[in-house]
Amino acid sequence: MKIQILTLFPDMVRQGLSAGIIGRAVTQGLLSIEAIDIRDYTKDIHRKVDDYPYGGGAGMLMQAQPVYDAWCAARERAGAAVRTVYLTPQGETFTQEHAKAFAKEDGLILLCGHYEGIDERVLDTVVTDYISIGDYVLTGGELAAMVLTDAVARMVPGVLGNERSGEAESFEGELLEYPQYSRPRVWRGMPVPDVLLSGNQRQIDAWRREQSEERTRLRRPDLYEKYCRLWDCHKRLMRQKLLHIDMTELIVRGKAHVLYDDGEEICLLDKESGIRFATAGEEDAGRRMLFSLLREDGGGLFAVHQEFLADLLEREYGYARIMTCEQAVYTRREKIPVRGRYLAADPAGGTLQTDQRPRICRLTPDWLDTVAAHYEMTGSAGADLPYLMERLEKGWMFGAFLDGQLAGFAGMHTEGSIGFLTVLPEYRRRGIGGALETYLINEMTERGFTPYGQIEEGNTGSVRLQESLGLCFSREKIFWLQR
Ligand code: SAM
Repeated sequence: MKIQILTLFPDMVRQGLSAGIIGRAVTQGLLSIEAIDIRDYTKDIHRKVDDYPYGGGAGMLMQAQPVYDAWCAARERAGAAVRTVYLTPQGETFTQEHAKAFAKEDGLILLCGHYEGIDERVLDTVVTDYISIGDYVLTGGELAAMVLTDAVARMVPGVLGNERSGEAESFEGELLEYPQYSRPRVWRGMPVPDVLLSGNQRQIDAWRREQSEERTRLRRPDLYEKYCRLWDCHKRLMRQKLLHIDMTELIVRGKAHVLYDDGEEICLLDKESGIRFATAGEEDAGRRMLFSLLREDGGGLFAVHQEFLADLLEREYGYARIMTCEQAVYTRREKIPVRGRYLAADPAGGTLQTDQRPRICRLTPDWLDTVAAHYEMTGSAGADLPYLMERLEKGWMFGAFLDGQLAGFAGMHTEGSIGFLTVLPEYRRRGIGGALETYLINEMTERGFTPYGQIEEGNTGSVRLQESLGLCFSREKIFWLQR
């Protein structure tokens, strides 16, 4: 990712972002941050960039010409159209959701104002997003641009390392973090809470969760209210656990935002993928929900849990059905015993194997072309190259290797289901699919997720595989639609 910051104080920005994790990420080439001096683009012989505002008033205003010319230079360096963010107290308040969305871009241009701000005409011409870092006024946009850059950069894959990728953080979003302690065990007579020294991870997790809840309730009642609402939806969705596993897992994994909830009908947004998930008790109430949700609809992907909702989306809102699936859920808490199904190891480790167990490991982005070629061959819907790349970068695609050759792969979709399961033709009927799925189920169980997959209608091979691994099926179907 390439971030270009247009500013009157390039040294301030360079120094501010050269240290720590962000500085290291730049050195490693994971992202590039460039400060561009707007003053270099002024046509004024005294290098002036500001003037009095028409109509009078206090202070000076940055003029349109130097800002525009600096922006044109940045736009050309970006090589493609990129979002331009103006840091301003008049913008939307910056949140973690903005950080995640910006981190998906290949490039960003950040524009820092100074004095009383910038001539409106150039803002109208170049700015795509207006962002504020809070309800107070700074003297310039540089600190705000640094705040935004820091928060966005840590969401870029690799900057924090795969193990801390945003989506792996359960309960992220609605709750504040629990208190943390380091050595010594007792400081000024204050001991570290006993539970943290117990070595019992389940008890530690439960304690942390309680502390997070209590802290959020006291310090951020607004967030706490949202959190309670979400878990109330969770409780109701759990009445049909297998059918709603995709929705409950969004909540458990901290990715859900409630778009609609009337007590019976619920619609959740996956904050990461933008996919909406809806369920309804009966048709009229379902119709009311869709009407309220879709009055100003920009389209996108929809997963609905009743056929009447799918019919309504088709008939009244122009959506098209793309898939009908059953959900298969791994309901046990313990991992599946591996019993020699695979070895978890580096594919490069030894080219010839004496036994026929596949080695399973995470696939790097270098595997994009191979994965794309074989995944397309299976004719599965909805996988384009950027999506496969995103999954590889996030570390959620795994390969099975035999004698150093890729025999198959599987992964996790952005919204959380196990998928992409592909075994190359020459390796079929050798237990590779079962090995890959066992591996993924165990990876997810370890993170406290409930593993599940969505099996397209008529895919009897996959149904047999899920059954053999002990997964339970929802009797009702779920329907994927797109517009
Ligand atoms: N007159 C402007 C107004 O009322 O909107 C404020 C100008 S402020 C003194 C100068 C510059 O600091 C702005 O152009 C903007 O780039 C930056 N800035 C100030 N407060 C900010 C905030 N809360 N968030 C983001 N940028 C801010």
